[in-house]
Amino acid sequence: MVAPTWNLQWTIGNVRVTRVEEVVTYIDATALMPSFTPETLAPHRDWLVPHFFSDRNDKMALSIHSFVVESDGMVIVVDTCVGEQDRPLPNDLGFPDRLDTAIDGGLSAVDMVLCTHLHFDHVGWNLRAVNGQYVPTFPNARYLFARTEVEHTRTDDHMEVLAPSIDPLITAGLVDLVETDHQLTEDVRLIPTPGHTPGHVSVLIESNAASALITGDMTHTPLQFAVPELAASAFDTDSALSTQTRRDIIERFVDTDTLVLGTHFAPPTGGHLRRSLTGARFDT
Ligand SMILES: [Zn+2]
Repeated sequence: MVAPTWNLQWTIGNVRVTRVEEVVTYIDATALMPSFTPETLAPHRDWLVPHFFSDRNDKMALSIHSFVVESDGMVIVVDTCVGEQDRPLPNDLGFPDRLDTAIDGGLSAVDMVLCTHLHFDHVGWNLRAVNGQYVPTFPNARYLFARTEVEHTRTDDHMEVLAPSIDPLITAGLVDLVETDHQLTEDVRLIPTPGHTPGHVSVLIESNAASALITGDMTHTPLQFAVPELAASAFDTDSALSTQTRRDIIERFVDTDTLVLGTHFAPPTGGHLRRSLTGARFDT
């Protein structure tokens, strides 16, 4: 586990995106993608090691971070990491303090919180404990969840555990249920990328002829762009659909100028899709 020391920032036309890291951890790729084998990685090692797979033991880098998107005078936090509710990290890394420092005006300047989907590592800091009570981490924000995603949580036993990060916000009237193609600002909108979960969204930024895509968990590692059928089937609700979504996203953005920002990609985190024999290479 590596203690975060720095943030990354990108400018896309009039939009600024800042990566604020909670933690980068190294996992067995099979824990996420059971069909992964060393042979899956071998043809792609030259560009995946060392940023995205360890050069020592082939473990996969899994970064947990938020993206802070500033557009049209609005501050949007995309995904809120693991947090501390019933799932304490080994060390309190002071993530809300780092977010507070990274945002002009601090946590209270955040206008919107967008969760790409409602898995634990994307909703954890929606609330935080203050004097023994959970309060919204972003006191002036609307929380945006896809309507289909919230409906899915009501039918999935798995998701019970997430209720503390979601339900108090709904009860307090702080949640806007949005469609999966919702427009957040003139330059920022959601696009549906289902498969990992039914209401999963990615975030598309288009500003002054520049563009960027925040993936969410339609892919967890650039290796899944190279091998689109390599599904995160340990967690996907529909791996055939997540594979189709990756193929669609590759076809739409490969060999374009669109910057791809990976929600679980370790630094350098951003890159471009370049066509390869099997799918797309992630060119940093
Ligand atoms: Zn995730």
